[in-house]
Amino acid sequence: MPPGPPQPDPPISRTGVIGVLAILIAAVSVCVSLLVPRLSEPGPMLGEEPSIRVRVARSAPTLTIEASRWVLASSSGDDLTALTAPVRVSVQDGGLLLAGPEGGGAAFPPGATVRVRCAWLEDLRIGDAMLPGSLSLSPVVREGGEGAINAVARVPIETYIAGVIAAELYSHWPEETFKVQAVAARSFAMAQMERRRSRAFDVENTQLDQVFRGRATLERSLAATEATRGVVLTHSGSVMHAYYSSTCGGRPAGAGETWPDHTNRSPPPLRARERAHFCDHSPVYRWEVERETGIVREQLRHWARSRNDPLREVGRPISIEPSLVNTAGRPAQFTITDDRGGSFTITAENLRIALNAQPPGLRVGSGSVRSGDLGVAIRGDRTVIAGRGFGHGVGMCQFCAEAMGLQGHAWRKMLGHFYPGARLERVYR
Ligand SMILES: [Zn+2]
Repeated sequence: MPPGPPQPDPPISRTGVIGVLAILIAAVSVCVSLLVPRLSEPGPMLGEEPSIRVRVARSAPTLTIEASRWVLASSSGDDLTALTAPVRVSVQDGGLLLAGPEGGGAAFPPGATVRVRCAWLEDLRIGDAMLPGSLSLSPVVREGGEGAINAVARVPIETYIAGVIAAELYSHWPEETFKVQAVAARSFAMAQMERRRSRAFDVENTQLDQVFRGRATLERSLAATEATRGVVLTHSGSVMHAYYSSTCGGRPAGAGETWPDHTNRSPPPLRARERAHFCDHSPVYRWEVERETGIVREQLRHWARSRNDPLREVGRPISIEPSLVNTAGRPAQFTITDDRGGSFTITAENLRIALNAQPPGLRVGSGSVRSGDLGVAIRGDRTVIAGRGFGHGVGMCQFCAEAMGLQGHAWRKMLGHFYPGARLERVYR
């Protein structure tokens, strides 16, 4: 989700003649570089809209499921049990216990997954999230041995996409920006469905994958989803992990350098390249945070210990400098030199994560390191970290897409700008 206060005014509406000319010139230069992907229409063999499995609760000690009246619960092969809503779910002796408000309930065997749905085929609700379809509840064991619950909602993917884009964008942003976000989110979701086929869920409902807070009611979100129904970005016949982030800061990242371990998720449209950018109105276009140098050392060590990385031995940093820069001029890798003469390398994305680590018992200080496109100045006890943009910087930039939408760019053109060389295909009716 984009950070900071909304930016409600279209730039062109509060810009003088010179500013308008500058925007027009910029727009023309962008148009020249845009390759509009061709949209393949559905063939006769295309199937129905799939459902996606969204993990909506992870190791929750208890859960409350609300519905209009009755909830139906069943385990594999068992008869349906009807329970009055709201239903409280807890774990007892390794099995799930579902209890209604009036004392009625059902206990399931240890380890058994329980499927629940509303008796009237209406939405279930967990917290504020309206969840269509059904919910699978599984008992799990938390660290320390306590029982907890995982909940996975099975949601028609178009309903899921409308929910994601409502959570990812400001509601007043342009319609075309919502359409770009819909195609990127759908592509990412379908690529994760393919990758996680053998797992118990396809996506998390958080920024680990995409933010989803249940069924959307925002008209713009529903309309953008419908206008792009079934459309995804593909490359070499595969649906792409169409990554996106809040603010590229002017220098996009490539998937390959950002996540070197995920080489199968870095096709040519996700490579770094110089491109025109429009996100300088983002509240985190540029940022700066300050840390104690000793805290930086502890953060690096803390991050490294959990990964068994050589940085776990790092001394007091003397310098942190880019040692690899991508074709857009963005640092991809840093070298850290310490006061013992040690030298360590770390990817820019991991440096961002490490510099936000919270070692137990230490006060890190305010402000987060928002991207790996950063510069570090170490001055004795104080370390100043100044950076550009927010997020990993791969693929679509949400604040760039907002500005391009306001300038009148159509969604297909914008997708060509953010994912050059990708194809647009409609993969279901
Ligand atoms: Zn941008």
